[in-house]
Amino acid sequence: VASRHQTELAVLFIDLDNFKQVNDTLGHTAGDEVLSEVSERLKACVRSSDWVDTSQILPKEKDFARLGGDEFVLLLSEIRSAEDVSIVASRIIENIASPISLQNTEVIITPSIGIATYPADGRDVETLIRNADTAMYHAKAEGRNNFQFFSAALNKRANRRMELENALRKAIEREEFYLNYQPQVSLRDHSVVAVEALARWKSHELGEVSPGHFIPIAEECGMILELGDWVLNEVCRQIKRWQFAGYPEMKVAVNISSLQFRNHNLTRNLLDITSAHNVATSSIELELTESVLMSGINEAVETLGSLKEAGFTISLDDFGTGYSSLSYLKLFPIDLLKIDRSFVSDIPGDENDVAIVEAIVAMAHKLNMRVVAEGVETELQREFLTAQGCDVVQGYLISAPVPAEQVQAFFAQPRLLQQS
Ligand code: C2E
Ligand code: CA
Ligand code: CA
Repeated sequence: VASRHQTELAVLFIDLDNFKQVNDTLGHTAGDEVLSEVSERLKACVRSSDWVDTSQILPKEKDFARLGGDEFVLLLSEIRSAEDVSIVASRIIENIASPISLQNTEVIITPSIGIATYPADGRDVETLIRNADTAMYHAKAEGRNNFQFFSAALNKRANRRMELENALRKAIEREEFYLNYQPQVSLRDHSVVAVEALARWKSHELGEVSPGHFIPIAEECGMILELGDWVLNEVCRQIKRWQFAGYPEMKVAVNISSLQFRNHNLTRNLLDITSAHNVATSSIELELTESVLMSGINEAVETLGSLKEAGFTISLDDFGTGYSSLSYLKLFPIDLLKIDRSFVSDIPGDENDVAIVEAIVAMAHKLNMRVVAEGVETELQREFLTAQGCDVVQGYLISAPVPAEQVQAFFAQPRLLQQS
């Protein structure tokens, strides 16, 4: 249409962020009410000529199956600039996000909007909708309740993400993962009390990919379950290698993602792996984050109880970054608190961080937990932490995460195996 009139068009792909939740908790009737209210509000935001019934423009034979009931497509015509579109998109967000009254309650629905413009982002409806959809996913990733324009860079990112996910799925089988270990050192006697196993991925196609990048993707696509099993298996094999070489028993900390934690058979699964390798559970420390515990207090208490009973050490990772209430902390059988790196990096200069570290150490000790400080990089930080009564430090000051052969240099000398 637009090519005939020589004007620009914009396609807006609108997805409701929390609609499913409304539907699930308040029921379908309420859900339908919300949808019709949202579509009324959308209509009010644009000229009537811009209103598009999705079912009319979508080519029937094409596969747009995932265009569900909580997704809307708008076509804006006679666009003069990107600003025009931004104004409309902002108006839509504002309108939709104001409370919707239902029979006996009120809900707030927020939209994520992706925008593709004609002709820059596509010359046919199908391409425009697909690209607006890509941009909508970007809006979701940016924290929802916002709008994003499609761009070639964005598309490249989406493609790269797809590429990464595909490569990730093959990585275990192709033996592309390996582990590095980082020592945790006692502030009392400077001995290594444990080493943390950190996953590394050297992809055949993409080269070295950082865990900050691939772990979240592995979590989203569920691959983390398989990866988590691989990590624990490899840790057990390594423990055996060290044992065989005569090193004193070394505790290894393993990161457990929330998806693994929510898996009902976590304890059983971990026990199956450790016993297959004949490794004692007392050699394994499980690092969990606050978000894992707060998602369901009762279940978390139960799961932690069974892990503890099985003999694992429990450690609370990245402490201070979540929003866990301190009063809940005593409900959980936690052995160690790991103060997040962000609180450590600016001590002793930053007064707030100093106060936070002081409070965490005091509270942890009251609850009979030991405290590990993460990301310790300077002598000054170590001195301050020692003075605060912190128990253990981990960070570049001691060592970066390194391969097993390197970390073992930090262990006490191996006992020479008796030659017969
Ligand atoms: P994390 O568990 O908080 O791990 C500590 C991170 O801090 C590591 O990053 C480590 O290399 C880094 N680090 C250690 N000391 C210092 C320091 O002194 N200064 C600074 N600036 N950084 C330091 P890495 O290895 O990139 O891992 C990032 C995150 O990826 C980990 O954060 C963890 O959440 C996740 N991760 C890594 N391996 C696994 C795994 O096997 N399973 C799961 N579920 N997550 C993993
Ligand atoms: Ca960790
Ligand atoms: Ca951490």
